[in-house]
Amino acid sequence: MKLIAWLLDLIYPPKCTFCGKLLQKDETDLCGQCRRTLPEVNGAIKRGENFRQCWSVYYYEDFVVDSIHRFKFTGMQQYAQVYGRLIAMMLLRNKVSFDILTWVPISKNRRRKRGYEQAYLIAKTVAQELGRDCVPTLKKVRDNPPQSVQKSAANRRGNVLNAYQAVHPERFSGKRVLLIDDIITTGATLGECSKTLRMAGAEQVECATLAVTQYSDKK
Ligand SMILES: [Zn+2]
Repeated sequence: MKLIAWLLDLIYPPKCTFCGKLLQKDETDLCGQCRRTLPEVNGAIKRGENFRQCWSVYYYEDFVVDSIHRFKFTGMQQYAQVYGRLIAMMLLRNKVSFDILTWVPISKNRRRKRGYEQAYLIAKTVAQELGRDCVPTLKKVRDNPPQSVQKSAANRRGNVLNAYQAVHPERFSGKRVLLIDDIITTGATLGECSKTLRMAGAEQVECATLAVTQYSDKK
C-alpha cells in the first residue's frame, strides 16, 4: 500500500457506505452484513410514464435511507462511486442494453448550494464501469421546489412539468437512452425527463437508480 493511502486509511478508516461500520480488510464499499441483507430489487419496476421501466438496486429502506440522506445532505459525495458500481453490476447482471447513458440534472441554483450534482456523479461511475460515455442530454430550466415536499403524485408531476429542456438532441435522436438518478419515488421526475427526451427524438428511455421506494408495487 502506498504511504499516502495508508495514512488516509489511518485517519479516515474506510466505512460501510450503508451502515457506517468500519470495513474489514477483505471488504470494499459495503460490509458483508449489508451485502447479504440490504433489500435487493428483483428485476425492473414499471412506474411512471414515458419510460419503459426502471432498474433499481435496492428498496429505499433501512440503511439505504440513511446512506442516501448522507449522500444528498451531508456532503458524502464519494458515495456516488459506490452507488455507480452497484448500479453498473446490476445492469450487467440483467443484461440491460442501451445506446446513450445520461442523468437527471439539477438546476444551477441547487448545484451551487449543494456543491455537486449527485446523479451526474453516479452516472459518471456507471459509465466508467461499463466502458461507456456519460452524455449530457438535459438541462433543468426551472428551479422548482424539491419533490420531497410534494405530498401527492399529481403534485409531484405538476411540480416538474416542463422543468427540463433537451440539449444536443442529435446525440440521442433515434437511440435508446438509459437515464440515471439516485432514487425513484412516483416516477414523476424520471417521467418528465423521459418525455423531454422522447419529444426531442429518443427512440426509447429506460431508467436506472440506486433505490426505489415502496410506493405501490411491493406489499
Ligand atoms: Zn454495512
